[in-house]
Amino acid sequence: MIKDYIESFVNFLKTDVKDKKETKELAVLIRITCCVFAVYYLITGITIAFLQHYYLSLFLIFAIGVLAGAFICTYENHTFLGLVILNVVLLVFSTILALYVGFDMDYHIPIFLNILLVYFNKSDMMILKRIYTFFICAYMMCITQFCEAWNHARVPDGFSRIFIQSLNMLVFSICIGTVAYCFCNKFNEAEDKLRRINDNLERMANLDTLTGLSNRRHMNEQMKGLVHEFNRTGKVFTIAIGDVDFFKKVNDTYGHDTGDYVLSTLANQFIMFMRGKGLVARWGGEEFLFVFENMNIEKAFKNMDELRRSIEAMPMKFKEYDFHVTMTYGMEEFNDRLGVEATINRADEKLYKGKTGGRNQVVI
Ligand code: GH3
Ligand code: MG
Ligand code: MG
Repeated sequence: MIKDYIESFVNFLKTDVKDKKETKELAVLIRITCCVFAVYYLITGITIAFLQHYYLSLFLIFAIGVLAGAFICTYENHTFLGLVILNVVLLVFSTILALYVGFDMDYHIPIFLNILLVYFNKSDMMILKRIYTFFICAYMMCITQFCEAWNHARVPDGFSRIFIQSLNMLVFSICIGTVAYCFCNKFNEAEDKLRRINDNLERMANLDTLTGLSNRRHMNEQMKGLVHEFNRTGKVFTIAIGDVDFFKKVNDTYGHDTGDYVLSTLANQFIMFMRGKGLVARWGGEEFLFVFENMNIEKAFKNMDELRRSIEAMPMKFKEYDFHVTMTYGMEEFNDRLGVEATINRADEKLYKGKTGGRNQVVI
């Protein structure tokens, strides 16, 4: 029951602002600060009534009313006005309490909160925020000096003194903690969002949209890593280029969308087959590049031929069409004298041989 009330109150505090030009974080921060200060002024009002500061107590009740006004402003698209009211309340009432109950009771410290609150405002007027910071600094210097000269304070002692000082420190710590929490939240949210956008951009830059395979750029990057590994440890790898046979005919006979279906179906088969064996990418059009890691050309050939046979046997079913496709492959084992580019060129030459030699074969 109480938990439900607390939950709905917290949700009420977190209500989003209606005006898109205003920030939710500032509105929530103002609401929390208003609530904390309303309770704080109530306790302070009672405490100082015991110290016979009756007028001051009544004045604090008035302060609670003004805080309620600032609180309501944040729900009515007047967050900035709420911020101004809160700032004025903190300035005026903290100063009055410092003057009449005693400067060393630390009533003036919450005034520093104004600086933090102002920086939460979305406005780009950085210069005004800096000027305001200097104003608060100058104000604090003035009231420090003024309070020393002012001798109308009725300073409490004993337990009341400890209670008031502790309460003031507690309230200030709560407010600073809340500001820090909101700031941290905002920062983390922004960072998460940026990370998600970056991941997405990276995926988009690396993947081919039709097949979901790595694109040429990404494969080149990955091969750089393999060459580095080869130079370091001597780990061999073999490159193969595969090209769909008579693919133009597939497009011409069954339509371009059937051609797309064939490419993505092949890609799925490649991904499954190459798992644990190496890498595959869409090299261009209906050409795919395979890298068999840790395999010399003989071992890679066996794998490639197994894939060739599985593709040949794979039924392609799209719309009312039922057909098969085959592929031709050329392979070359990487060595450091050749380099990646020449290795790929040699594989390509062998692919060409396979095409002229009857297709549906692996040439090494
Ligand atoms: P070969 O056996 O000699 O390789 O003959 P081929 O018809 O496969 O070769 P060709 O180079 O003449 O044709 C390749 C075709 O692949 C032409 C092009 O329209 C098609 N193609 C390239 N990319 C795509 C694609 O993303 N989707 C579809 N549907 N077709 C594509
Ligand atoms: Mg082709
Ligand atoms: Mg081709």
